[in-house]
Amino acid sequence: MSAVWHPFTQHAIEPAPPVIARTEGAYLETADGRRILDGISSWWVVTHGHRRPEILSAIEETAGRLDQVIFAGLTHAPGEELAEALVDMAPHGLTRVFYSDSGSTAVEVALKMALGYWRHEGDGRHRIAVIEDSYHGDTIGTMSMGERGVFNAAYDPLMFAVDRLPFPHGDGAATLTAFEDLAASGQMAALILEPLVLGAGGMRIYSPQVLTGLRRICDRHDVLMIADEVMTGWGRTGRLWACDHAGIAPDILCTSKGLTGGVVPLAATLASERIFRAHYSEDRRRTFYHSSSYTANPIACAAALAQVRLWRASPMQTRLDALSAMQAERLAGFADDPRFENLRQCGTIAAMDLKVRDAGYLAETGPRMRAHFLASGVLLRPLGNTVYVLPPYCVTADDLDLAWSAIAAFDG
Ligand SMILES: *Cc1c(COP(=O)(O)O)cnc(C)c1O
Repeated sequence: MSAVWHPFTQHAIEPAPPVIARTEGAYLETADGRRILDGISSWWVVTHGHRRPEILSAIEETAGRLDQVIFAGLTHAPGEELAEALVDMAPHGLTRVFYSDSGSTAVEVALKMALGYWRHEGDGRHRIAVIEDSYHGDTIGTMSMGERGVFNAAYDPLMFAVDRLPFPHGDGAATLTAFEDLAASGQMAALILEPLVLGAGGMRIYSPQVLTGLRRICDRHDVLMIADEVMTGWGRTGRLWACDHAGIAPDILCTSKGLTGGVVPLAATLASERIFRAHYSEDRRRTFYHSSSYTANPIACAAALAQVRLWRASPMQTRLDALSAMQAERLAGFADDPRFENLRQCGTIAAMDLKVRDAGYLAETGPRMRAHFLASGVLLRPLGNTVYVLPPYCVTADDLDLAWSAIAAFDG
């Protein structure tokens, strides 16, 4: 019997998981030598491919001289160089980089920066606007801002209230109007959103014009915009950042998952100079009192720097365009398939919904689909009735065919 309590796993029902002994490129290999295509980039973290040599050698080289170093009162080259690179690559106006270790902590940091900003400005604003069906992490604060449901009902008494905007359909008019009304109240500290794609909420996609509209309302009513690019960042949507599609810059941006190429954990919260300045004072009470023990781990920073160099050295945009086109071609093959609906794509992410007969059918179908995919040599993990392929960028056309034909072969 295993002593491990796995995440998002009902141990009473689910079979013992395969043991993965090796990873390489787009594939996982089990201890008994079976190859499994990683169709979801190991939960959206792996960007260039598993064990990318450039990232591994940066880790090896750095571990030869550095391990964890306290980041309060001390600094180090990997942390400094990475911060500079992130500022350089991020949407315009994000000038300060705060490190942590996961997407959830990056979002918690963003929230604390926003609330700290208003407090130090002497303004009592503290309300947070969110988009319905969003996901921002699994800590109490990030759950409070995310969609409520079976996943977090037990913790409801501890969660804080937020103002929820309807999901932006089409031109997003209802969302924009609702936000304009809220923002005009003068109570809104920040709007937090997943730009363009709601990941855990079912790969739901909205238009860049909505993002531009929300930014305009934030400007008009002095509401801070927090872009949670934890999933969308580093090319998933076909551009480096999802915000780039709209040509907008948030006041605060959260990145994690693909930051190190998915090799080791690291996160960063980028803030505008205005937010940093509100905390910059001879009055020590304005200090940003936050830290994770592993803040700016030098080995993780070196991995991220190597990942950043891949963006600078290789024609990433060409690769993303090619992968997006390959995904579009395969998704189009399902246009007339009566089993699926709501075919959609944003850059490298392609998704569609299995038509659901009833809730009981749905509850049974998810695990059955997963088992079917695994037996076909593909790791896919539908979100409810949403099937999606979110591959590492190194996948070949044949790899994608393997994933999509496994979907086509699912017989309910
Ligand atoms: C995964 C995710 C998070 C949480 O990241 P963790 O590293 O799992 O804590 C936050 N926001 C979004 C949009 C995510 O997809």
